[in-house]
Amino acid sequence: MNGNLQGGCLCGEIRFEVAGSITEFSHCYCARCRKATGTGYSSVLIVSSDQLRWVHGADHLRRYDLACASSFATSFCSSCGANLPRLTRDGRYAVIPAGSVEGDIPFHPEFHEFHAFKADWVTLGYVDLPIYEYENNHNTERRENQCEPPIMMRPAVSEDAASLTSIAMHSKAYWGYSSEFMRSAEAELSVKSRDILDPDVYYWVAIGEDIPLGFYALSKSSGSDIELDAMFVTPEAIGRGIGKKMMAHAKKAAVKLGAVRLIIQSDPSAAAFYQKAGGVITGKRESESISGRFLPILEIALEPGTDYV
Ligand SMILES: [Zn+2]
Ligand SMILES: [Zn+2]
Repeated sequence: MNGNLQGGCLCGEIRFEVAGSITEFSHCYCARCRKATGTGYSSVLIVSSDQLRWVHGADHLRRYDLACASSFATSFCSSCGANLPRLTRDGRYAVIPAGSVEGDIPFHPEFHEFHAFKADWVTLGYVDLPIYEYENNHNTERRENQCEPPIMMRPAVSEDAASLTSIAMHSKAYWGYSSEFMRSAEAELSVKSRDILDPDVYYWVAIGEDIPLGFYALSKSSGSDIELDAMFVTPEAIGRGIGKKMMAHAKKAAVKLGAVRLIIQSDPSAAAFYQKAGGVITGKRESESISGRFLPILEIALEPGTDYV
């Protein structure tokens, strides 16, 4: 049995690949598998451990080794709880939950394992049961793992300057500002390569479908304060939780930089978003690019040691 398989968890944070031949494919009916999966049996593929490769998100993996067992363990995503591949305790084999594999698996299970432990309600041979097709099902939600790919955060590189400027300009224009206003704000909204390379400014980019969809920047302010210099989401990607994700990431990054307060000079239209994220309006500041225009200043109190993501 040979092939290349790909899979991942429900939320998409973790992805893996399996290359080469499959040693074993079976259904297991033991009580441990029932508990671990919450279903009647587990369907697993066994491969040699060097055939499994994590594509991304391995740091989100959690593992539970059942203490009384010689080898039983579970592996799951810390964000969504989905079952994922794990290595056997001796490290020789990888156990791949068949349901975590996407697309067809070009082999079929060869045997039933621990069949004597099968729960009475587990029926074998589903071909004898009526099959409810999707069209007749009372729940019309499609059950593919159809969510959009997750947003990943990565530090900006100098080559991102043009796309970050474009995101900032489009995002600002989304609030309905005049073209005259946008021209006055352009210099302040532009992100230059040298800004990204500035060691005192931290640019992070939100990536979806391999392209930047948003970004934020932190800079050291006075004392132990960190200022949020920018946070923008491209208008086409609004509604995907990118702002919320970036805000949580920014808090975590600011805590790592030793900050106890995050200071935000907000666009008046965005103040409500920052208030929802824990921001309190503490004053106003005159815009750098448009004199006479005052912008709300907010503060978010940060708890050192809190994992905001
Ligand atoms: Zn997940
Ligand atoms: Zn089992």
